[in-house]
Amino acid sequence: MQGMMMDRPLLISAILQHAVRSYGEVEVVSRDGDRPLFRYTYGAMARRVNRLANALRDAGVSAGTRVATLAWNDYRHLEAYYAVPGIGAVLHTCNPRLHPAQLAWMLNDAEDSVLLFDPAFLPLVEAIAPHCPHLRKYVVLDTALPERTTLANLLSYEQWIGEYNETFAWPEFDERQASGLCYTSGTTGNPKGVLYSHRSAVLHSLVLSNAQALGLSSADTVLPVVPMFHVNAWGLPYAAPLNGCRLVLPGARLDGASLFDLIESEKVTFSAGVPTVWLSLAQHMEKHGVSPTTMRRTVLGGSAVPETMIRTFAEAFDVEVRQAWGMTETSPLGTIMARPAHDANACVESNAHVATSQGHAVFGVELAIAGPDGKRLPHDGQSQGELLIRGPWIASGYLNHEAKPLIDGWFATGDVATIDASGNMRITDRIKDVIKSGGEWISSIDLESAAMAHPEVALAAAIGVPHPKWAERPYLYVLRRPGSSLDATTLSAFLTTRIAKWWVPEGIEFVDELPLGATGKVQKQILRQRAHATGETDADAAHAVARS
Ligand code: AMP
Repeated sequence: MQGMMMDRPLLISAILQHAVRSYGEVEVVSRDGDRPLFRYTYGAMARRVNRLANALRDAGVSAGTRVATLAWNDYRHLEAYYAVPGIGAVLHTCNPRLHPAQLAWMLNDAEDSVLLFDPAFLPLVEAIAPHCPHLRKYVVLDTALPERTTLANLLSYEQWIGEYNETFAWPEFDERQASGLCYTSGTTGNPKGVLYSHRSAVLHSLVLSNAQALGLSSADTVLPVVPMFHVNAWGLPYAAPLNGCRLVLPGARLDGASLFDLIESEKVTFSAGVPTVWLSLAQHMEKHGVSPTTMRRTVLGGSAVPETMIRTFAEAFDVEVRQAWGMTETSPLGTIMARPAHDANACVESNAHVATSQGHAVFGVELAIAGPDGKRLPHDGQSQGELLIRGPWIASGYLNHEAKPLIDGWFATGDVATIDASGNMRITDRIKDVIKSGGEWISSIDLESAAMAHPEVALAAAIGVPHPKWAERPYLYVLRRPGSSLDATTLSAFLTTRIAKWWVPEGIEFVDELPLGATGKVQKQILRQRAHATGETDADAAHAVARS
């Protein structure tokens, strides 16, 4: 017997319509280049989204057309987040930090027809335009056209949408239709396009908001620091209006001082970003002896969150850190460490191992781990294997790729993890980053976290270097905190108090900076090349005493 409920499609346009009806007066605040903060309400935003939808339609954008963006987190980008999928087209958010050749490759792979971009990216767009034959219209997200440009068919956003009506009737279509496109940051080979659907985006937003996930409500002022070009800013541009949250968009200024100013001036209660950005926020607050007055909760993810960061935010700044795990292919929310305060098992003091894990799967997501032979491993908190995932917002394929990435209906993540009996998942490594020493695995994440527990270490990255006896040994790159003269012998001695002796790195090298990728993660392939070039891969060097 079938249920007798209406079969209404889950569409992104419904999120904004809901926000207008229920939270029409709630404010959106946005950085606007170097101008003063821009402010409007969801009601006013929706009217501009309607204008953009009319303008796009008139420009021939229809169901399935790919519209690309190259923009920071600001209000015009937010408008595109609704207008483009709302009319059935696909929003392809591109990362401006990528190499121009890679960017052009993605625009061609996606066959983007229209590109909306921030004025600061004009030189970049001019450089790639001759290599992108599918692009037929360019829109600079500004009030006027630049004085000079080599781009034909360039429009200014404000002049363009200003000519259109501020009412629009949102079409209804199959909720499985594509809504968004984001390329994986893939370190080898070409990046692959992950195609989200309206259904996946809406379901993801609903679950993301749960108390046991981000816990969003209309009492929150949300600051998405995670870029809108990286996995849809973790879904916050959809989840915030859905829950009536006030939304604050930080633009391009993501240094600690600028973020702190915005958090304070706009009374932000909730924010989300990658640990490297939060490191600069913490350093700013420590240096100036300040802490946030209203921000009480933050979600960090994208790479492992060191225990010290969780402790510092909780103890020094009274901010709860919820660590989340996900990927471009998982929309991104897969798991989150969001246990209630009364759950003693999840408190850093009593069980740091659990409290610093990547947490439990959110509703809708299932996890498993498998050994190299594909056999399932027990959820005993000990057995390590490749993390498998499935659920309604997990990718089942890639754009323009025939081959399906699924194994028996599960997506193989390339991450190595353990899962304990109560469902807590802990990432120990990427498969390619695991250090295999004497047949045993050393978790580069745990080693880095142990090093970052030293008060003078800002950031650490561990790689494996070849060794004649043990196959591989760990080698650690360390970025000291400003003013520190920490040496390798002292750090090694500190590490022996926190990790097994055989985990202590063969070499420790202090660096002035660590190479960060376009999404703020340490690029270990560059460190491996550097180690190779400086001879650290040679057996003798690997035996060398720690250097400083
Ligand atoms: P991306 O697709 O660029 O978002 O990268 C996804 C990858 O980032 C995952 O497969 C993990 O390797 C890593 N990652 C994301 N969140 C975490 C986390 N909380 N802890 C450890 N690694 C993470």
